[in-house]
Amino acid sequence: MTELQSYGVRLADPDAGAQSRRGGAGPSDHKAMTLDGMTIMVPVHTAPAAQSPFEIAQVPSGATRILRDGLPLAEVSFPRRPRFYDLVSTDGVPYWKIATLHGRDVLATTVLQECVRYQSRAKTCQFCAIGQSLAAGRTIARKTPQQLAEVAKAAVALDGVTHMVMTTGTPPGKDRGCAVLAESAAAVKAAVDLPIQVQCEPPDDDAWFARMKEAGADSLGMHLEAVTPEVRARIMPGKAQVPIERYLSAFEAAVPVFGKGQVSTYILAGLGDTREAILAMCEALLARGVYPFVVPFVPISGTPLEHHPAPQPAFMKSVLQPLADMVRAAGLRATDIKAGCGKCGACSALSTYERGIG
Ligand code: SF4
Repeated sequence: MTELQSYGVRLADPDAGAQSRRGGAGPSDHKAMTLDGMTIMVPVHTAPAAQSPFEIAQVPSGATRILRDGLPLAEVSFPRRPRFYDLVSTDGVPYWKIATLHGRDVLATTVLQECVRYQSRAKTCQFCAIGQSLAAGRTIARKTPQQLAEVAKAAVALDGVTHMVMTTGTPPGKDRGCAVLAESAAAVKAAVDLPIQVQCEPPDDDAWFARMKEAGADSLGMHLEAVTPEVRARIMPGKAQVPIERYLSAFEAAVPVFGKGQVSTYILAGLGDTREAILAMCEALLARGVYPFVVPFVPISGTPLEHHPAPQPAFMKSVLQPLADMVRAAGLRATDIKAGCGKCGACSALSTYERGIG
């Protein structure tokens, strides 16, 4: 799994199976695939994937196999196209433009598809493609609470989604999107009983954590992405203006509200942070009850980092294996998270190392 997520995979038939994800906020250019009962996100549209030793091809029996250097490794299947994708909201927007299926059973949406950090390439996070899916007409700029409630209800009823991720581009206001996430969570919760993770930057006022929780958010993600000052300034010059200390104080305020292990962060390994720097940050996070979801960086086509190498599998293993031990020692578990990326786990092998099968 570590190798697949680092190298990606070539598709003999690019349209095989369920749809892949291009553009959007956070990691992208993946395809969800199920191997040995586990659904993982594997890069397929990236530059490294084109050179990958892994290939997916149909064998004469009709089965779909994953091959390594031409030799069959395992059977693979793809989550089917969700039924809710065929529906249209009461105000005329196709549901698939409002929210998408991630992994096997996660409904994911970017509530605001515009971001104050995405105005100029000098300030934008270099890995992010939030504007690309909007420019390509694959999503809409703002999802209303009513639209999200409609889609969530249908995705639970028709496709059995079990939790929801609501992320957002950062709007100009000081709340950093918390107000819009709170009203969106409230609308979804009023329509359907679905655990929700909200994701945002640390807001100006820690009182937003309780407001989002009261509105219906079950867990919270505040994503560091990179951990050392030099890497932060280079990779995400706008977001790096929010100091690490502010993230740590925000985590300290949020954990008592959401509970130990229900607040998480996303760290992209492979952007220049050393193994030691990542693990030291994870230790500081775990001491605060924060789940550190470390994922391999995926160079998304069309972003300034599209030709940046993906991390080597040996590097990922050297981070994730000890990290899994640290997570266990801190008494946290991916499976205890109520909703969100850490629970889904499809973008990283971390949870498989936690279970001792990485
Ligand atoms: S880990 Fe997060 S970003 Fe990755 S597939 Fe799951 S919900 Fe989506």
